[in-house]
Amino acid sequence: MRTQLTSYFARLFAGELSVFGGPATDEAVAGHIRAEQMSLVLGYSVGIMLANACNATVLAVALWYSPDRKFVFAWAIVVATGAIAFGLQSHRSRRIIKPQFVSRRAMQRLVRNAFLLGAAWGVVPAAFFANASSGGQLVITCLCSGMLAGGALAFATIPIAAIAFTAPIFLGIAICLGRSGDLAFLLIAFLVVVYGAVLLRGVFINSFSFARRVMRQIEAERTVRQDPLTRLPNRFAFNETLEAALRRLALSGEEFAVLLLDLDRFKEVNDRFGHPAGDAFLVQVASRLQRCTRAAEHVARIGGDEFALVMSNLTRPEEALDMAERFVASFTEPFLIEGCEILGATSVGIVLAPRDGNAPLDIMKNADTALYRAKKAGPGTVCFFEVSDDKASRDRKALQSDLEGATARGELFLVYQPFLDLDENRITGFEALLRWQHPQRGLVPPSEFIPIAEETGLIHEIGEWVIRRACATLADWPGDIRIAVNFSASQFHNTGILQTIVQALADAKIAPNRLEIEITESMLLSKYGSAVSILNSLLQLGVTVALDDFGTGFSSLTYLRKLPFSRIKIDQSFIRDMLIHPDCTAIVKSVISLARDLRIGVVAEGVETADQLEYLRQTQCDEVQGYLIGRPVAADQVLALFDKKHRAIYAA
Ligand code: C2E
Ligand code: MG
Ligand code: MG
Repeated sequence: MRTQLTSYFARLFAGELSVFGGPATDEAVAGHIRAEQMSLVLGYSVGIMLANACNATVLAVALWYSPDRKFVFAWAIVVATGAIAFGLQSHRSRRIIKPQFVSRRAMQRLVRNAFLLGAAWGVVPAAFFANASSGGQLVITCLCSGMLAGGALAFATIPIAAIAFTAPIFLGIAICLGRSGDLAFLLIAFLVVVYGAVLLRGVFINSFSFARRVMRQIEAERTVRQDPLTRLPNRFAFNETLEAALRRLALSGEEFAVLLLDLDRFKEVNDRFGHPAGDAFLVQVASRLQRCTRAAEHVARIGGDEFALVMSNLTRPEEALDMAERFVASFTEPFLIEGCEILGATSVGIVLAPRDGNAPLDIMKNADTALYRAKKAGPGTVCFFEVSDDKASRDRKALQSDLEGATARGELFLVYQPFLDLDENRITGFEALLRWQHPQRGLVPPSEFIPIAEETGLIHEIGEWVIRRACATLADWPGDIRIAVNFSASQFHNTGILQTIVQALADAKIAPNRLEIEITESMLLSKYGSAVSILNSLLQLGVTVALDDFGTGFSSLTYLRKLPFSRIKIDQSFIRDMLIHPDCTAIVKSVISLARDLRIGVVAEGVETADQLEYLRQTQCDEVQGYLIGRPVAADQVLALFDKKHRAIYAA
């Protein structure tokens, strides 16, 4: 009971409106409302304190001939100096940045000061009215009414402060009026009560609506700064945190780190299990990440599957590494989504400020570069930004701009690698592999420039060129030779690709069944919907489709049943280890028999040794491809082979 009462008074004197039946709030919001109230009062305070000092002086002058003159004089000096001192202090505090949160204690202090000032004015009618001349009494009446109205205005958003200020003045007036038995004074007393009631009612109405307005504003600001799915701060809020950290760095040299996270293979989770499951996954990831951080810090979701954290007040870089490792470790347990266990992972890039930059753009660019290296190293990797990264990123940018004109300048060309049919022991076709002869760098491998082409969208232009070039080359080759062309996932975004293929086949006057498109499993996952319809259209055209690098993606045998593949290509990593690791042997053997059962062709990629070839022959693999059979060569070398009518030249 006692603690309840104490808490009631604590809330009452902290200006909490729920005490008076106003809107209830949690402490964070209440603190924010107090900050707004306080800032309004401080805004008025200089003027009000000046008015207080003036009024006290006016009163001293008005009561100059009163018998209480000495007391009035002393009173006026105390009030005027107090008011000036307080006015100067609040003027100074106004210059400091407006706080986002004001404590209960600070508000209680304000209420106490309001009471002290009100009490000082309450003394005037009670102590000086009776002995004053009628002119003096008129001045006292005017001053007290003015103070009542001014106080109500100054504390219009804080009822308890308005009450604390006006109550002593009311009391003083009541004492003074009560002492004289004059009817006119009783009428004045009645008027004072009515005015007081009207004033206080106004204060309540105003303060309730003020609090509601602040709450709405807080809510709106929260929405602007919050990611609606995970309820984490969003990119906007993250940028603000970063800028605040940079300000602290400039002011006090406080170092900080930025950790940038990107979920590994999130896209595949999304495509495989659907968007609602992807969303549920993100929500769980968000809460695991948030649990890893220090209490006052918040991970922000700054993109689809990108998260970031500003770690302020960093004393050692190891602290950032510890945090990053905690993030990575939080993915150890699988996520349970719609009854399925889903494994996730994250890569983390770390930048340290000011070491790696002291401007938001540099910091984020460098974090991105560090993350890029982490992602390249594999899931769950943490990388600090290194100066050499910067060079790598500049290199990448340079490569990107060089690639833009590469097709037009004729720097791209195709090389052809043969397929050997093991049954007939003859070359049945060639895979077209893209090369870039860079004027300064020399030969750039496709693993380096194809990802750039995909990111920038240049892949469409390049891909179309590859199709046309491959078909044109094939036109000069014997009619039973096919050509295989590699396709990137993003090329399936471009519906014009079908038209390009039809046109290229028509221009080169070659039968569609001599063209094969190679696609990878990851591509099916990312664009499963449109891939199926484009694949079917290709099939209707007569073009065949092979599933490349089989076994390396998010393999799902369902695709093999649902999609019209004519061939699967076992990835070279299995062939390389086929005679070393029994599990690879088992995989190769079962993929070959699976293809046989499904009645689709099977090619083993990356055959380098005679033993591998022999084993594949025994397991009845249809076709093989690899350095043992032939390295990728230029078109004229292929033609030379045919001219010699020596198609089985590669046969072992
Ligand atoms: P891929 O389609 O799986 O091509 C096979 C890669 O393995 C080729 O590398 C080839 O040179 C290499 N290779 C062939 N036999 C052997 C072998 O016995 N041992 C070893 N170690 N490697 C062998 P390359 O030409 O560097 O191509 C790499 C990847 O780049 C290709 O993988 C393909 O995904 C992509 N690519 C190549 N050309 C194109 C293109 O025109 N368009 C698209 N979208 N991607 C392409
Ligand atoms: Mg291929
Ligand atoms: Mg391959």
